[in-house]
Amino acid sequence: MNLIPLPAFTDNYVWLLHDGQRALVVDPGDAQPVLAFLAQHRLQLNSILLTHHHPDHTGGVDTLRNDTGAAVYGPASERLPEPLTRLVEGDTVQALGLAFSVLDVPGHTAGHIAYVCPAWDGAPLLFCGDTLFSGGCGRLFEGTPAQMLASLDKLAALPGNTRVCCTHEYTLSNLKFALAVDADNAELHAYHARCQALRSDQRPTLPSSIALERQINPFLRSRQAAVKASARRFDPTAHNDVSDFAALREWKNQFR
Ligand code: ZN
Ligand code: FE
Repeated sequence: MNLIPLPAFTDNYVWLLHDGQRALVVDPGDAQPVLAFLAQHRLQLNSILLTHHHPDHTGGVDTLRNDTGAAVYGPASERLPEPLTRLVEGDTVQALGLAFSVLDVPGHTAGHIAYVCPAWDGAPLLFCGDTLFSGGCGRLFEGTPAQMLASLDKLAALPGNTRVCCTHEYTLSNLKFALAVDADNAELHAYHARCQALRSDQRPTLPSSIALERQINPFLRSRQAAVKASARRFDPTAHNDVSDFAALREWKNQFR
C-alpha cells in the first residue's frame, strides 16, 4: 500500500492511497493531478472520501466520478456534489481492503468529518481535512470554539503513531505562530528546523503524527500553562479552557 500527497493549487494536498492496482483519494479539489497520477501508474480509482464542502476539497469530484465511476463518500449534512453516500460518526467505509471509520469533527465547517484507518503496517492513518493542521487548526467558519476544541480533543486522543494527513501545507506559517505562543518549547524549535529543511527541498512536511502534534501544536496544548499564559496575554478576558482556546484562534487570525 502506498500513501501519496498529490500537490494541488498553491498549498493543498489530495491524499492518494493505492495498492498498485486500485486507488482512493481524499478531498480532490482538482481532478487534474489525480487523473495524471492514475494514468502514470495505471491505477483504477475506486473511492473518493470527502471531509467537508469547501470547493478546494470537492472541485474535482464530478470529473473524477464521471471518468472513473468511483464511489463518493462524504459528511451527512453538507452540500456536496451528488450522488454520494453520506456518513456520520460510527459509520465505516470499506475500500482497498481497509476500513475507514468516521469521526464527527465540527468547527471549521458545521458538518466536517474525519476518517481513521487502522492501516496495513501498524501506524493508523487520519484524514482530517481542514480540522487539524501540523502546528495549527482550521479557521472557525461555521463552528464555535467549544466545538473545535472538542473535535481537536477527539483527534488528540488517537494513538500517538497515527499519521496525520492534513489537506494543506501550512506547517511553516503555523510554526511561526506556535513559536510566538510557546517560545520555550524545545521540541517545537527542533521540529521547525526539520520542516524548514524539508520545505527548502520542496518536500512535504506531512504526514505528521498525533504524538508530535501533542508536543508542538498550540491548539492541542491550549491547557498547558505556558500556552494558557500566552493566550491570556493576548486576551486578558480569557478565563477557562474554551475562552483560552478562542483567544488563541483569534490571535492566529490576526497574526502576521
Ligand atoms: Zn476548508
Ligand atoms: Fe481547505
